[in-house]
Amino acid sequence: MTALTNLLDLDPEQLIAYCAELGEKPFRAKQLQRWIHQFGAGDFDAMTDLAKSLREKLKTRATIAAPAVISDHTSADGTRKWLLDVGQGNAVETVFIPEENRGTLCISTQAGCAVNCRFCSTGKQGFSRNLSVGEIIGQLWMAEFELRKTKGIEPGPKGERQITNVVMMGMGEPLLNFEPTVTALKLMLDDNAYGLSRRRVTLSTSGVVPMIDKLAQECPVALAVSLHASNDGLRDGLVPLNKKYPLVELMAACKRYLDYAPRDFITFEYCMLDGVNDTDAHARELVALVQNAVNPVPCKFNLIPFNPFPESGLTRSNNGRIKAFAQILMDAGIVTTIRKTRGDDIDAACGQLAGEVQDRTRVQERMQKMAEYQKKFGKDFGRIVEVRT
Ligand code: SAH
Ligand code: SF4
Repeated sequence: MTALTNLLDLDPEQLIAYCAELGEKPFRAKQLQRWIHQFGAGDFDAMTDLAKSLREKLKTRATIAAPAVISDHTSADGTRKWLLDVGQGNAVETVFIPEENRGTLCISTQAGCAVNCRFCSTGKQGFSRNLSVGEIIGQLWMAEFELRKTKGIEPGPKGERQITNVVMMGMGEPLLNFEPTVTALKLMLDDNAYGLSRRRVTLSTSGVVPMIDKLAQECPVALAVSLHASNDGLRDGLVPLNKKYPLVELMAACKRYLDYAPRDFITFEYCMLDGVNDTDAHARELVALVQNAVNPVPCKFNLIPFNPFPESGLTRSNNGRIKAFAQILMDAGIVTTIRKTRGDDIDAACGQLAGEVQDRTRVQERMQKMAEYQKKFGKDFGRIVEVRT
């Protein structure tokens, strides 16, 4: 028996080709795609406007399968985290963050990560494997329709969309899993799937320079770059990839990307590490880096208070320091936000939970711990709140 084709793995063109193999016209692929990505159908019998013979054919050859949910936790404020099984003891996390006028889904692109940034617990776990297209888009598929089910909102284009923004800021380096990531992005943007605008989809990268250029050509979405340092010496020690693609190259790539980007700025993420990268001198050096006369890069800064974990040997900059740092950037005319995470404990901090997970027993423990922490520290524990200063 041949393996079933997971239709979540196929982009619009591949679905057309797949239907052609079955002797079906391209419009059938569009119908199928709408059933899957707009109505959340996981069952061919539900696709009532497809001929019965086609449905029967599909049942024997295809499947619609997202990664299995290991746990599903909703905080009182609506933040919802799913832990998903991607096989062989690997789990990835998907987080939905509701805000007043939007709902943001933070998705993962790899199990583990090979970049090994000094401050990141995902990196400390090492690299397990790339996620497939179905595992990446499956996070959005699962989350959108689970959220609707919970709220009693009908599937389909008429029902109110729950996820309005996607950020690739979960586990993994998306540009080191390029093809599946781009295919998933194309589905996010496709009008017969999720129809999100490019401005509402953000890819975050540690700075894989050639792939930034490739992304500009193949699927330019909003770009966030994890900078974390104001000079090469410092960045080499925090983001090892910097040795391969130093700041001058990274800045030039950012500049080139802006010619294709849906927004007219790059977002720089900057993790605030006490005594490491958080002095006034670092802030001034950053201003000089992005506003230099030769190659200025229009940008915004998003300062992320470090979520500590024991093996890192690093601590979070205090709030006063973060504000002073932000002020220097803002005085130079750079829009700066501070991302606030509630609760200091690593175990429940965004993006850190699944990174620690190696097996299901530990997952259970951690989910219990998360619930305990929320009781203890309040409903916002583990939630990310964007604060404009
Ligand atoms: N690999 C990509 C995307 C995933 S990481 C990247 O590095 O951009 C998403 C963001 O979380 C990055 O900006 C990353 O630097 C940040 N991050 C990782 N570990 C963190 C920690 N312990 N505390 C705060 N932010 C962290
Ligand atoms: Fe990988 Fe991003 Fe973590 Fe660095 S910060 S190790 S690139 S997931």
